[in-house]
Amino acid sequence: MTVMSRKFARFVLGLILVLTLTVCASAKTNYILMIVDGGGEGAYRIGSQFYTGEDRGLPYMKHEDGWKEFGCTTYSKSGVVQDTKTTDSGTEKIVNYSEDGSYSPDTHWLEFETHMKNPTDSAASATALNSGVKTKNGRINFDENGKQLETVADFAAARGFAAGSITNVMPSHATPAAVAGHNMNRGDGANLWREMVKKDVLSVVIGAAHPWYDKNGERREEAQFNPYGPSEHAWGRITTEPTYHGWTFIEKREDFQKIASGEVPAPKKLMGLPQVAGTFQSSRSHDRGRNENVPTLTECCLAGLNTLNQNEKGFYLMVESGSVDWLTGNAQRTCEEMCEFFDAVQAICDWVEKNSSWEETTIILTADHETGALFGPLADQPDTMFQAPIGKGKGQVPECNFFKKSHTNAPVPLFVKGKGAEKFEGRVKCTDETFGKIWGFEGKIVDNTDVPQIGKELFDGK
Ligand SMILES: [Zn+2]
Repeated sequence: MTVMSRKFARFVLGLILVLTLTVCASAKTNYILMIVDGGGEGAYRIGSQFYTGEDRGLPYMKHEDGWKEFGCTTYSKSGVVQDTKTTDSGTEKIVNYSEDGSYSPDTHWLEFETHMKNPTDSAASATALNSGVKTKNGRINFDENGKQLETVADFAAARGFAAGSITNVMPSHATPAAVAGHNMNRGDGANLWREMVKKDVLSVVIGAAHPWYDKNGERREEAQFNPYGPSEHAWGRITTEPTYHGWTFIEKREDFQKIASGEVPAPKKLMGLPQVAGTFQSSRSHDRGRNENVPTLTECCLAGLNTLNQNEKGFYLMVESGSVDWLTGNAQRTCEEMCEFFDAVQAICDWVEKNSSWEETTIILTADHETGALFGPLADQPDTMFQAPIGKGKGQVPECNFFKKSHTNAPVPLFVKGKGAEKFEGRVKCTDETFGKIWGFEGKIVDNTDVPQIGKELFDGK
C-alpha cells in the first residue's frame, strides 16, 4: 500500500466512524407502554371477537408486522389482599389473603380455582411495570422494605427524555400515578397528583377528573373534586393562571383534536382533563352511546405524542385503558373499552410510521393483571376446563362468563414491537404449555418487571 492510499484508507475509516457516531447520537428512543387495567387474555379475546369477528383478529395477535407475543406474570410481594367471595347463601364476604405472590406453570392450572389465588393489586403491579421491582400490594414505587424506587420515567427524565401519563380513568389512580408518583399508600391520590404535576418528570398528564362534569359528561350545579385529581385549590390555579407550573390546560374535545391533528402546535407541557368524571365512557348511566363531548383515547394519545415528540432525545409514554378492571359481569362495556384501546394502538402505530420509526420506537401492549377470570361459559366444568370465550361474529358480544369479581393471578398478554423487542426473548422465564394451549400461542412467559428494566436499558443506550 502506498503512503497516499494508506492515508486515504485512514480518512475513509475516520469518516465512517464520525458518521456512525452522528447517526447514533441522533437516534431517538421512544418507549410506549399501553396497559389495559384488568385486561387479561379473556378481555383481549372478547375484544378481538367483537372488534374483528375473529379470535385473534388484530395484527399483534397474528404476529404480523414484526409483533412478538408473550404471556406476562403479574404476582406481587403479597401484603394483605382483600377479595370478595360469594357464600352459599349468596351473600358477599370479604376474604383476606396474605400469601407471597408466585407463579409456576406446574401448579397454576391444576384446578379451575388455582389460578385465581393471591393476585396482585394495581399499585404493586404498576410499581413492577414502572420500577421493575416487586412490592407489597397497596404501594406505589416503594419496595417491600419501604425504600423509594426509581421509575423508568424518573430514569428517562434524568437523562433528558420526556415522559407522559395518559389514562381514560382518574389521573392519579394507581396505574397512571405510578409513572411518576411515589407513595406508600395508593389511596393518597391528592399527593400522588401533586407529585405528578409538580415534579419535573412528566410533560403530559391526561385523565378523567373534571370537577364540573359528571360521569355522563353533563355539567354539575356544583363542583365535586375527585380524590385522584386536582384539589379545589389547584383547580382554581389551573383554570386562572396561564401556565400553572408550566402546564397548558385543556378540557374541550376540540382542543384535544386540534393538538392531535397538528392544527394547533403542541404545548410544552399538556394537562388534559376532559369534561367528564371518573371514566371517559365506561361508567356512563345512559344508553345514548358514547359521550361525544369527551375525546377518544386515540385523540388523547395523538395529542400526547405530538407534545412529547418535541423532545429531541425521545420519550417514555404510558397509556392506560383503565376501566376493564371495573367491568366484571359487563361483557358489552368490556368489549367497547377494548375497541377504544385497539383503535388507540392502531393510531399510535400509524403515528410511529409517520413521525418516527420502529428503529427508534418500542410499543408494548399488556395488562397489570387479569380481572374476572373471564373465560367461555363452561370453563369451570371438568370436560371443558378453561374453555375460551366463543365469538358470535363482529359487533356481537361473545359467549363468555366472569367467574370471579376481582383480580386473578393468571399471566396476561404481552405484545411488543419495534426497538429492543428482541430483548424480551432473552428474558423468557419458562414456557407455560397449558396457558399457551388455552389461548392459542406458544406460551412463552416473561415477567412484568422485565418491562421497565428493558426500558431503562434502551434509555441508557444499551
Ligand atoms: Zn389494575
